[in-house]
Amino acid sequence: MKRIVAMLALPLLALASICTAATTPATTAAPLKTRNVVLIVLDGLRWQEVFAGADATLMNEQYGGSWESEAQLATRFGNPELQQRREQLMPFLWKVIGKQGQIYGNQKLGSVAQVVNDYASSYPGYSEMSIGHADPTIIDNAERYNPNLNVFEWLNQQPDLKGKVGIVGSWHLYREIFNTPRSKLYIQAGGTPPPMSSPPTPRDELLTRLYKTTLALEDGDVTDSFVQVTLLDYLHAAHPRVLFVGYGDTDEWAHSGRYDQLLESAHKSDSFAQELWETMQSMPQYRDQTTFIITTDHGRGSGLVDWKEHGRVEQPGSENIWLAIIGPDTPPLGELHDVPPVKQAQIAATIAALLGSDFRSAEPRAATPLNFRSAP
Ligand SMILES: [Zn+2]
Repeated sequence: MKRIVAMLALPLLALASICTAATTPATTAAPLKTRNVVLIVLDGLRWQEVFAGADATLMNEQYGGSWESEAQLATRFGNPELQQRREQLMPFLWKVIGKQGQIYGNQKLGSVAQVVNDYASSYPGYSEMSIGHADPTIIDNAERYNPNLNVFEWLNQQPDLKGKVGIVGSWHLYREIFNTPRSKLYIQAGGTPPPMSSPPTPRDELLTRLYKTTLALEDGDVTDSFVQVTLLDYLHAAHPRVLFVGYGDTDEWAHSGRYDQLLESAHKSDSFAQELWETMQSMPQYRDQTTFIITTDHGRGSGLVDWKEHGRVEQPGSENIWLAIIGPDTPPLGELHDVPPVKQAQIAATIAALLGSDFRSAEPRAATPLNFRSAP
C-alpha cells in the first residue's frame, strides 16, 4: 500500500510543477468586481456525469441498482444528444454557467482537473481545497481537527470580513475539517438542528422536529434539502460575504449503489445551486458582485461496478474532478478545452484572489490561484 502511494507521488509532483507554471496570480488587471465568494461542493459527483450526462449503461437495475423504471429514467435523463442530456441532468450548470462562466475538467476535450492528495476521499479533498495543499497526514475520514490554516478562517480574520464567513453543509465532519473551535467560523453542519429563536416560532419547532426525526443515509448527517433551508435562512440573517456550501446526497446515493437516486440528487443539487445564485442575484449586496465556484471533493471509479466507490488506488480515476466558476470577473469561456491542467489545491488561493487577497502570504504551501480572469 505504501509503495503504491509513493509511486503515485512522482507523476503528481510533475503535475504540480506544470500547474504552477501554467497559472499565475491575477495582479495587474483592472480592479475586481467580486465582493462575495461562494464555494459549493457536490460530494463525489463524477466528471463523467457532469460532462456527458446520465450513463445509459447504468440506467437500469442490473448495474445501476435503479428502482425507477428504465423508461422513466430515459425520459428524465437519457436524451440521445449529449448537450441536451447533460442539460437534463444539470440545467443550471449547462444553461447558465456553461454560457456565462467556465467549466474545467472534460478530459475528452483536453481539460483535466484533479486532486493532488493521494487518497481521493472526502476529508483529504475538502482539506486540500480549503488549505491549498495536500497534508500527507490527512489520509481518511477519521474524526480529528484539521491542524492546518484554511482560507475561510484566514479571510474571517480580516477586519472587513470578520463574522461574514460561514460554513453550511450536510456532513457533520465539516466541524473537524474547518476546525471550527479554533477557526471560530460560523457553522451549520450535519444532523444538529440550527438554534431556535427565543421564543421559538412554529417554523423553528417544525424544522427541529424534522431534523430529529428524518433518517439520513449516514448517521450524523442530514439530507441536502435541510442544508438548503438553513443555508437560505443564514444568507438572509447574516449576509455572509464568503460561504462554503457542502451538498452530500450525490456521494451517499452512489455508495448506496442507486444510480437513479444519484441522478436525481445531482439534478437536485444543481437546482439548489441555481436557487442560491438567483436569490443572491436578487439582493443588492450580491448582485453582479458575487462569484460562485462549484466543484467536487473527489471523483469515483468507472465502468459497471466502480462508479459506486472512490479511492485513488482501489478505484483508478477517482483523482479526476471538475470545476465550474461564474461571476463578474470570469470571462464567459464556457466549457474549456485544450488547456493546462488545474488542481483542487488551487481553490483556496483562488477564493482569496477573487477578494483581492493573497492566501499564499499566510500559507506559502498553497497552490497558486486559477488564472480565472483570462483565457488559460
Ligand atoms: Zn464517499
